Amino acid sequence: MQNGTIGVTTENIFPVIKKFLYSDHEIFLRELVSNAVDATQKIRALSNFGEFKGELGELNVRVKVDKEAGTLTISDNGIGMDAEDVDKYINQIAFSGAEDFLNKYKDTAANIIGHFGLGFYSAFMVAEKVVIESLSYRDGAKAVRWECDGSPAYSMGDGSRTTRGTDIILYIDKDSSEFLEQERIDMLLRKYCRFLPVPVISGKEREWKDGKWIDTDKDLIVNNTEPQWMKKPSELTDSDYLNFYQELYPGQEEPLFWIHLNVDYPFHLTGILFFPKIKNNFDINRNRIQLYCNQVFVTDSVEGVVPEFMQLMQGVIDSPDIPLNVSRSYLQSDTAVKKISSYITKKVASRLDDMFKADRPAFEKKWDDIRIFIVYGMLTDEKFCESAMKFLLFKDTEGKYFSPEEYKTLVEAEQTNSEGKIVYLYATDATEQYNYIKAANDKGYNVLLLDGQLDNHFVGLLENKLKDTTLVRVDSDVVENLIRKTDRKAADLSATDRAILTRLFEQASRKVEKASFLVQFEALSTNSNPVVLTQNEYMRRMKEMAAMQPGMNFYGDLPDSYNLVVNTENDIVKGICTRADEALKAEVEPLLATIDKGNADAEAARKDGDNDEAKAKAADAEKSVADARAKMDAAIDAYASKEPKISQLVDLALLANGLLKGESLSAFIARSLSLMK
Ligand code: ADP
Repeated sequence: MQNGTIGVTTENIFPVIKKFLYSDHEIFLRELVSNAVDATQKIRALSNFGEFKGELGELNVRVKVDKEAGTLTISDNGIGMDAEDVDKYINQIAFSGAEDFLNKYKDTAANIIGHFGLGFYSAFMVAEKVVIESLSYRDGAKAVRWECDGSPAYSMGDGSRTTRGTDIILYIDKDSSEFLEQERIDMLLRKYCRFLPVPVISGKEREWKDGKWIDTDKDLIVNNTEPQWMKKPSELTDSDYLNFYQELYPGQEEPLFWIHLNVDYPFHLTGILFFPKIKNNFDINRNRIQLYCNQVFVTDSVEGVVPEFMQLMQGVIDSPDIPLNVSRSYLQSDTAVKKISSYITKKVASRLDDMFKADRPAFEKKWDDIRIFIVYGMLTDEKFCESAMKFLLFKDTEGKYFSPEEYKTLVEAEQTNSEGKIVYLYATDATEQYNYIKAANDKGYNVLLLDGQLDNHFVGLLENKLKDTTLVRVDSDVVENLIRKTDRKAADLSATDRAILTRLFEQASRKVEKASFLVQFEALSTNSNPVVLTQNEYMRRMKEMAAMQPGMNFYGDLPDSYNLVVNTENDIVKGICTRADEALKAEVEPLLATIDKGNADAEAARKDGDNDEAKAKAADAEKSVADARAKMDAAIDAYASKEPKISQLVDLALLANGLLKGESLSAFIARSLSLMK
């Protein structure tokens, strides 16, 4: 019997392990099963090299829960250990300065595990006592038993194992009793060991008999030892990939396509990335990419390892070069990880480019579904953005697809404005903006459909990327002004008529909450609508951005401001104007003259200086303006009820934009009926 203390430089390594690794203590099982798998792979390797001449047998790892004894046992028939091995690998924990290290990495204690040979010791996170029973593969080896109760003191002596391999027996702590539940263990094995390269056996396969589940005598293997990503792409068919996808994410709809990664240089990486069909909202919290290290599950929090936009993808990445068991901040700063990330980006881009070139119609068919990946990628990754310009597609409101160059060629001639800029018109909702799209199409313009959830940002990005191009939403102005070519004819209205109509239309539009309307007059074509609502592109974009980013509330709180464009060439408007002119001109014209004079007088008085006399003059003039304006407004307002068509026209424009609701809507209906009499 040998007694001794484990060779760490700090006396209190176990409390440290327990304390700092507490949140993640389930990973002990991964560590122990991985060690067992390693041991079986080592014996296979020795056998291949001819160093081990005995029977290999069926190599496997067994995990067994014994609730009554309070033990969890991980057994393998790998190389085993003799007393010397245990001394070397278990007793001498192979690192110096443990204390310094622990102090430095207190909050990222997970770093220690694996990296510093503490894998085995993670057993003490959940066990009060750990026993190793082992028999080495070496000829004439003696079985060894090692025992440790979680203090640095251990005892080692003759063991009882009669066949090659190792049992790690954990006497589970009272507060870790969950690890004596078969279901919990099975869940952990499924999580961490699902694709380990050696069969992992946990209990027996079960069958349904006489109304209950009973164990058969067939071992239950919990893992798939040959996952598809480890195979050569040339060996796999589409259905292999689809089956694998189902294995990873049961019950999910078929992915759109996948990319098989396989690199040997400058790092090792294999994996399969799937592009899932994303339904309206990002469902990225479940079913994420899983990170493996030699088929051992590491994590599915891949922030910082894969490029941001790839978090929309699914699948598996396996690389021995990704440091196992390290904190996320460590991962993000690791150069190997950075290289991996940029490699994956390149690979995804080149795969998309290949698809675009190989079969354009098929690519177009997939486009609507993959667009979100590409737009997200372009917005978040400069390099990807550059490559994506080669396979980016624009879709117009008729459902036709164009590459950026094709689209430029298509619209260049018709849609260049007087400043030489090409104007791309776009709609964000083909149904809601139908009227505007139709008006633009009738004028010979093409309209793009940008109705994705990231398109606010994407519009800005496109303007940066495309030379001499601006994007204008189709409802941001009347069609005549969307693409300004030469100065168009101004509205032909007298000052009096302008004042009267402005007041009349302003009053008629004052019925929408949280919106302001600026009345404008434009000489549009005679068959254009009498009244059109437009929303300034710049203001709308600011508001949209504000809605997405906290801290820009200033814009978010502003009312929606619309331009109420009155078409002075339209016959209905002309009629309204003529009648109002007849009814109000005599009264309004002199009042307007008074207002003009009053304004001029006030201005002159203010210029006179800061003396009392000038101040009194200015005040008088201002009062005469206010009086005249009040009189004028009263006269116009009194007339308004005689001209219900104004309200009707404004309401039609509001209705076309979904802005007419509640009381205003029912007033509109009543008015419509009475106008039909
Ligand atoms: P690591 O696996 O990172 O080297 P561990 O503390 O998990 O660190 O294990 C230390 C060593 O103990 C292993 O490298 C291996 O040599 C030996 N070992 C652990 N478990 C087994 C096992 N089941 N069979 C044979 N050797 C083992």
